[in-house]
Amino acid sequence: MATPFQSPRGTYDILPPDAPYWIFARQALKEEAESLGFQRIEVPVFEDIRLYERTTGETSEIVTKEMFGVTRASKDVEVEKEDRAVQLVLRPEFTPGIARAYLERGMQAFPQPVKLYTDGSVFRYSRPQKGRFRQFEQMNYEVIGDASPLADVAVITLTWNIFKRLSLFKELVVDINSLGDLKCRPKMRRVLLDFLSQNLTKLAPLDVERVRRNPFRVLDSKEPKTLVVVKKAPQLLDYLCDDCKKHFSQVLETLDELNIPYNLDPTLVRGLDYYTRTAFEVRRVDDETRQNAFGGGGRYDGLIELLGGRPTPGVGAALGTDRIIEAMKEQGVKLPDSKLADAFVVAIGEHAFKVTLPLVERLKAKDIRTGMTMTKNGLKEQLSMADRLGVRFVIIVGEREVRDKTAIVKDMDEGSQETVSFTGLENLIEKQLSR
Ligand code: AMP
Repeated sequence: MATPFQSPRGTYDILPPDAPYWIFARQALKEEAESLGFQRIEVPVFEDIRLYERTTGETSEIVTKEMFGVTRASKDVEVEKEDRAVQLVLRPEFTPGIARAYLERGMQAFPQPVKLYTDGSVFRYSRPQKGRFRQFEQMNYEVIGDASPLADVAVITLTWNIFKRLSLFKELVVDINSLGDLKCRPKMRRVLLDFLSQNLTKLAPLDVERVRRNPFRVLDSKEPKTLVVVKKAPQLLDYLCDDCKKHFSQVLETLDELNIPYNLDPTLVRGLDYYTRTAFEVRRVDDETRQNAFGGGGRYDGLIELLGGRPTPGVGAALGTDRIIEAMKEQGVKLPDSKLADAFVVAIGEHAFKVTLPLVERLKAKDIRTGMTMTKNGLKEQLSMADRLGVRFVIIVGEREVRDKTAIVKDMDEGSQETVSFTGLENLIEKQLSR
């Protein structure tokens, strides 16, 4: 039916045929993260705009152009003073909110490092196009309070394990770079600024503006004109201080040991201001400009301090779930058969519905995971529901069975069928399941 309403620009609906991919991807994050000692955290969907200005950075495109504001929208109430004082925005990423929670909820006093993961929607007011939405979903994880190169490797390993679990890793590569720290970054910046200033006329107009605001971003430009200049730019890696060099080579050595394929890319800088040392992105091998990266992350040793905490190192990553799901569908990744229930009760006719409800309860009380439809559905639909749940036992009760107080039990694994009395049902299924 036509409706005058459409979903807002840059948003989408996840419909039942796609939902299993999303469930599978989110579950992969949960299991892979928890198996490496990460624990779940959830943070608000909106926060004070200043949190992002201070961390994501006032020169980043996210903060300068892509924030979604949140205000009270009721027409006939006055905006309260308190609401006027704070500009709230929808989260454009997770890390600042998690860092805020880490400080506000006293996680600095926990045994360090604190390893956290989450997933959910983030919002960026950008121009929608293929693979780029205004509301999209990210998987995000952070190791806070560990300066060792092993923490960087833990984050990259978790990233790789998730892609492995989703059967996507074969076509992927990790681009990696080191951005230095507070000690070596000023020198890098000077050298780069000198070089770019000498080549200003050869840059794309957009990048001329970037030279002034954040010269590092020019390295990451997708503009063809700029790409020619960037090829000749000084290599940041040559200006790393000894500590940063050592850190980076330990990261790379460990990745070698773990057989995680990486590509040293001196132009990788990432869009956010708070990164230090290791930065990485995951892309399809043939997506050389990283236009459609699947995710990325890096170290942010100054972030917690920016929010008023004591100096605390951190490293994390965010993956774009939407692009991951698209790739899984494109590549025909098969979802594993998931058995969501052991048994399904098919009721034919109104009497049968009433009689089977207590049967379902009795089966559940014996820890037999049992499904049924509680709505008016025909036999065919009920059987396809049983199929979707992947059950082993289909229990059928029709008019005749209601009269006889019996049920037909089909064992889908064995391909057998028998009729049992209502009273013998739990025992039969329990016995078969334990075999
Ligand atoms: P970022 O937080 O910018 O490092 O992004 C991490 C990942 O999120 C990217 O590699 C993309 O896979 C995904 N992503 C970023 N922006 C969008 C967007 N507008 N729409 C869909 N996915 C996005």
